[in-house]
Amino acid sequence: MSESTPLFIHSARLIDGNGGPPIERAALLVQDDRIAWVGPLQDAPPAPPNARTLDARGRTLLPGLIEAHLHLSYRDVKELPDLDLKCPVEETTIRAVAHARLCLESGYTSAVSAGALHRVDVAMRNAIREGIIPGPRLLAAGRDICATGGMLDWNGSWLKLGMEGLGIFADGVEECRKAARTVIKEGADIVKVYVTGEGMIFECTAEEITYTEEEIRVVCEEAHRRGRRVSAHARGAQGCLISVRAGVDIIDHGTLIDDECVDLFAERDVFVVPALNYQIAIVDRGPEFGFPQEFLNQTLYREELETAYGNMKKLVDAGVRVLPGGDYGFAWCPHGEYARDLQTFVENIGLSPMQTLVAATKWGSELMQMEDQIGTLEPGKLADLLLVEGDPLEDIRILQNRSRLSLVMQGGKAISGPLARDVEG
Ligand SMILES: [Zn+2]
Repeated sequence: MSESTPLFIHSARLIDGNGGPPIERAALLVQDDRIAWVGPLQDAPPAPPNARTLDARGRTLLPGLIEAHLHLSYRDVKELPDLDLKCPVEETTIRAVAHARLCLESGYTSAVSAGALHRVDVAMRNAIREGIIPGPRLLAAGRDICATGGMLDWNGSWLKLGMEGLGIFADGVEECRKAARTVIKEGADIVKVYVTGEGMIFECTAEEITYTEEEIRVVCEEAHRRGRRVSAHARGAQGCLISVRAGVDIIDHGTLIDDECVDLFAERDVFVVPALNYQIAIVDRGPEFGFPQEFLNQTLYREELETAYGNMKKLVDAGVRVLPGGDYGFAWCPHGEYARDLQTFVENIGLSPMQTLVAATKWGSELMQMEDQIGTLEPGKLADLLLVEGDPLEDIRILQNRSRLSLVMQGGKAISGPLARDVEG
């Protein structure tokens, strides 16, 4: 393999992902796919003579962002049942390729899948890893595991449709065991199980529990024995409690938890990904997308969100890692808007911009069990980084504006942004 030209980035403000104060005039040296040096410019060793230099004053350098609840195969559908009915696998795969590029170019150099149609995210993970297509480093989840009559079982029996792509319906301990083994066989890194419903599915609400603790436990046993993690879709407190008691590693949503959950989550050190923008966007924009106000009121989303903001703050204060990741892939919260979550963390949950950026970088790498490779800007780690015009500590919203992303770099490779061409030469 030929050696690439080193890159010396200097004079940027540096946020390294560890949460300490930023370095105002920093330097960072990229050699091959790694960070070779990073720190204050005045302490920097001379750049190698063959290095390209990039004067980045006025810009902020930070680790590549990590999206913790991504559905690459959801193609901005208008209703939940469309996921199954209007997403044939061929079209879905092509769209997923486009979403992966968009995600990366939005500054997200890594992502965690929260479920996919068929094995689309598994195939995407592998193709990205092999350099066949651009996209975030990905943990794949494959198909969801759901009970009969659970949240995803929305096609009436009389329709005789079944559901092949989105989920595996499994009931009882042995079927759950087989479903977990099947998802693992299909290549998943994370096994996703649906424990509760949600507000938009009136037949299976946020508080309803569709699995027993024993059923969830067997999924966890199978996954953990094979070195995989388990995420649970769970909104109500009781559903969250039994999920965590049964051993899940990641709670997706967790919006309606109580204080007992906060204590248990902290004790078990689970990750929580509330995926709030899915709900915020439909509350704000629902009528534009054909949802009558009466329907939106019935979802109780507005009330759920108000509760969720306070709950997420309580979790963070208790030491639980709560991560941004917004369930993008629906008409009202389309792919590409990923960084809206960071604004939500600051404006609604009340975290500081710095805490939010740690959650979006370092904590994401910990969820992915890749903290020795990514998540912070430190020597020896992969050069996954983002150079943004301005200061996200002053205005976190600038990360939503792709025209301000001067450079997105992944593994030392300039991906996108106006400075990408200068860097690659
Ligand atoms: Zn989701």
